Amino acid sequence: MSKLPLHTQFSSITELRDALRSGALSATEVARSALDAAQEHENLNAFVHIDPELTLAQAGQVDAALKAGNAGPLAGIPLGHKDVFVTRGWRTTAGSRMLENYVSPYDATVVSRLTNAGAVSLGKLNCDEFAMGSGSETSYFGPVRNPWDHDAVPGGSSGGSAAAVAARVLMAATGTDTGGSIRQPAALCGISGIKPTYGTVSRLGMVAYGSSLDQAGPIARHARDLLELLEAMVGFDPLDSTSLEYCDNEANAPGRIRARFDAAIAGQQKNGSRPLEGLRIGVPKEFFDEGLAPDVAQAVENALRTFEDLGAVRVEISLPRTELSIPAYYVIAPAEASTNLSRYDGVRYGHRTDQYEDIEEMMSRTRFEGFGPEVRRRVLVGTYVLCHGYYDAYYVQAQRVRRMITNDFQQAFAQQCDVIMGPVAPSVAKRIGDNREDPIADWLSDIYTLGVSLAGLPAMSIPCGFGTERPLPIGLQIIGNYFAEGELLAVADCFQQATDWHQRTPGQQ
Ligand code: GLN
Repeated sequence: MSKLPLHTQFSSITELRDALRSGALSATEVARSALDAAQEHENLNAFVHIDPELTLAQAGQVDAALKAGNAGPLAGIPLGHKDVFVTRGWRTTAGSRMLENYVSPYDATVVSRLTNAGAVSLGKLNCDEFAMGSGSETSYFGPVRNPWDHDAVPGGSSGGSAAAVAARVLMAATGTDTGGSIRQPAALCGISGIKPTYGTVSRLGMVAYGSSLDQAGPIARHARDLLELLEAMVGFDPLDSTSLEYCDNEANAPGRIRARFDAAIAGQQKNGSRPLEGLRIGVPKEFFDEGLAPDVAQAVENALRTFEDLGAVRVEISLPRTELSIPAYYVIAPAEASTNLSRYDGVRYGHRTDQYEDIEEMMSRTRFEGFGPEVRRRVLVGTYVLCHGYYDAYYVQAQRVRRMITNDFQQAFAQQCDVIMGPVAPSVAKRIGDNREDPIADWLSDIYTLGVSLAGLPAMSIPCGFGTERPLPIGLQIIGNYFAEGELLAVADCFQQATDWHQRTPGQQ
């Protein structure tokens, strides 16, 4: 039996932090053991770039800060970054040949915030090319494997992040969610992840996919660890024009998530044996359509019953445009992607073909060689829907639908419920290669996550069971109103105090 990395002896970030602060172990020891684990799990293909020297240098600095008594709140926590966050020193590829050897001159805000908080980076994590995909199969560096079953996908696009956390190589990882890429891989790998309200985490230094949708968030084992990470990640960034400034109570004020989490937990404790007494859970009937696999429906139903035992009440709600979220998203996201990706022209960043006669041929060959088939498909779709003549019919129409989807959520929160719950994905993880012939099948499997992204709402995924036909993890989605991350995490925490799905480990169910 292989040796587990040191951080697995601790059940939470705060426990590991206390041990590091007491001097019982060092950040360097923790980092070394995680590096060993990363190597041991190399066959998952979760990492695209590991550099022990950089990791150990960071750990050494953290150890010095621990000694000096001025270490940050995440001091020594071993994590990894999805390879769409630019990093000084480490390559940033976005899973693409286009950026195969690209090294950024600066760190993404998310990366620098976590580093300043003391987290130690183990490296860069594999993902779908430019975060386009639902299975981490579109990466130029090959597919990521699901630690629960190496023939299954880990979900996507933050598949390397989810696989490395699920395999216990890392305590946590960063991810990004444009249409479900934090929630869905967390669900398919049996761990927890949260996509916060759009605009709360800086997009500076996040390789852009769909700018009006992209939002970063953490992936970890449970809600309490997500809280620690998210608190370090959020905050106004003057260098990101879509970052929310804290101008009133509802905005991006430091400490806001923890304050609301603490208040919600205090409320639960006051309620006593039924901590969620009176919590209204909206269950959208459209999330339980014929496309949902029976074992996923059953696991979600069981989770809802647990919530009822904890005092919550279930309210049936309707999100009537759920089906429309797929065409709306797959017009808007590719439209934004086609403009964002125009910067990869062989001049400004990354790959340049060596066979060309003139500049036009240079650009088109560069883009043909640098982008994989899924990215090319999105660029073509995006360019098409933005064309003069089609713009009104597709792009403007999709924006109208987006507004209606947002209104549906707002109406539910205003009139019927405090949180919304349902499945994350229609089935457990598919086998690698299953959807190769039919890319649209992947697009359809995003049905339960896209609406939230179009509306910019916060949502999370927590483990809630296993499939019956194939014993792979199933996730429960919990959606909140804008800025309700603290309450969402408290509701998830209450569930995780009452259940042990989040403690299951691949290989030792
Ligand atoms: N599967 C969706 C897509 O391919 C979502 C990806 C994401 O959230 N980055 O666009």
